[in-house]
Amino acid sequence: MSRLPILATALAAAFTLATAHAAEEPVLNLYSARHYQTDEALYSNFTKATGIKINRIEAGDEQLLERLKTEGANSPADVLLIVDAARLWQAQQLGLFQPVKSELLAKRIPTKFRDPDGNWDGFSYRARVIVYDKAKLKPADVPTYESLAGPKLKGQVCVRSGSHPYNLSLLGSLIAHLGPEKAQAWANGLVANLARAPKGGDTDQIKAVAAGECSVALANSYYYARILRSSKPEDKEIAAKTGLVWPDQAGAGTHVNISGAGIMKHAPHPGNATKFLEYLASDEAQRYFAGGNNEWPVVPTVAVDNPALAALGTFKIDPLPIATLGKNTVEAQKIADRAGWK
Ligand code: FE
Repeated sequence: MSRLPILATALAAAFTLATAHAAEEPVLNLYSARHYQTDEALYSNFTKATGIKINRIEAGDEQLLERLKTEGANSPADVLLIVDAARLWQAQQLGLFQPVKSELLAKRIPTKFRDPDGNWDGFSYRARVIVYDKAKLKPADVPTYESLAGPKLKGQVCVRSGSHPYNLSLLGSLIAHLGPEKAQAWANGLVANLARAPKGGDTDQIKAVAAGECSVALANSYYYARILRSSKPEDKEIAAKTGLVWPDQAGAGTHVNISGAGIMKHAPHPGNATKFLEYLASDEAQRYFAGGNNEWPVVPTVAVDNPALAALGTFKIDPLPIATLGKNTVEAQKIADRAGWK
């Protein structure tokens, strides 16, 4: 057999692959857990630049994961956009993603914010911070996550459920840094210090500090920045009464997490999906994406214009790869359960 037919077959196969993307309809189906005003500009600018129309399904993270599970191989979704390493890991374990192949993403997004197997990329990051009552505590009283579990803060700590992804990821980082035994001791100490049974979201914990129900709380940075940017008198009062600590500045650095996205395994428009993720890494999209939720852009050369974040100053970030947090969530949940952190 001559080599010619083999070459012809290879060429035909390559051509089919190349045209598979080229022949995609100019449509992208996006399942997103985000819903911010600036997202309108984010999406319309992508459509302007590429001619690709975006169909959006917006719902909560858990709802989107349920929906994708139900839809299976028939899902119209091209891209899933959700928050927190714990949830991205969950989506990955469900086999929802296909690896993205993009030199541009590899170049623009720092390795620690990407899944090493290419399932997802982070596009903005947020920090898990300590918010304290300025009338009762000083920053030096609560410099670390570990300090929240110490005997001095008995009955003074507010925090949301231990099963919530934000806390599972934080526990995941403590498992990585301290080992599972010390992470368990931390969770036990934290639960022993609770001012009340966990309820509500991060904003509710900040409000409880301002209301005097607890002296200190854990919250994601964007919730605090949102209060700082608010013109409502009740928010101004909360901002005046409370302070923020970047935890673990003398140690591992403050725990950060991401908003991230990946391409679905059964995406009808994988070429458009890749273009969309690459667009999210552009300077312009990075600013909209991070700005819409008072987060920071993952692309280090992109500057944010956010007075609230600027007022909080800079901080040392825990360099732990985000993918490590996801992998530790199963262990983290066991620790939270054993501690009775409901
Ligand atoms: Fe949140």
